[in-house]
Amino acid sequence: MSFRSLGLSDALLKAIDKKGYTEPSPIQEKAIPFILERKDVLASAQTGTGKTAGFTLPILQILSEGEQRRKRPIRSLILTPTRELAAQILDNVRAYSEFVDIRSLVIFGGVNANPQIRALRNGVDVLVATPGRLLDLHNQKALSLSQVDILVLDEADRMLDMGFQRDINKILALLPQKRQNLLFSATFSKEIKKLASGILHHPVSVEA
Ligand code: AMP
Repeated sequence: MSFRSLGLSDALLKAIDKKGYTEPSPIQEKAIPFILERKDVLASAQTGTGKTAGFTLPILQILSEGEQRRKRPIRSLILTPTRELAAQILDNVRAYSEFVDIRSLVIFGGVNANPQIRALRNGVDVLVATPGRLLDLHNQKALSLSQVDILVLDEADRMLDMGFQRDINKILALLPQKRQNLLFSATFSKEIKKLASGILHHPVSVEA
């Protein structure tokens, strides 16, 4: 199996090549085609499986093929529990988007919000965020989620463990009804299953 046969564009293949990856990991092989088909996906994957590229690559492909909008509304929102994870995901997004015209940004709490607010004003296609800071900046009208087309909940189990259920519910209410949803979790408790069933529409399940 090659990245090319998964249906990824030359611009993304170039970035993958630069990263030195020779073949897709199992989660990438399973998840990428469904995401490109615009299916909702429920993925069981731990850190270290290559899950980040598994959702980032197809998102970049979908957004770069889509209509480019001058003001760059946020078209993909990636929610993750901690600032370390958020920063890591942004590093991945930036590396894979080197050869496509996609702008990305990360926002998380515990640091001054002003640089994040200024960066948001320039327009962002892909926003990586922790839930609290996202709601905070939304309340300050520093961002709009009305154009989000692809939502990712990364490490959904950890988000629930960290008490983000209420924040997630508030964020969901700010998103368009019609969108693609991707949920990644290492474990599947009753709570995660309930969260997933409330968010995902006819999801395809994949395992790392
Ligand atoms: P993740 O599970 O997304 O945190 O990724 C774990 C590590 O695997 C990261 O350092 C990635 O850069 C790396 N990685 C992701 N996909 C591949 C691949 N197809 N081949 C080799 N390494 C990869």
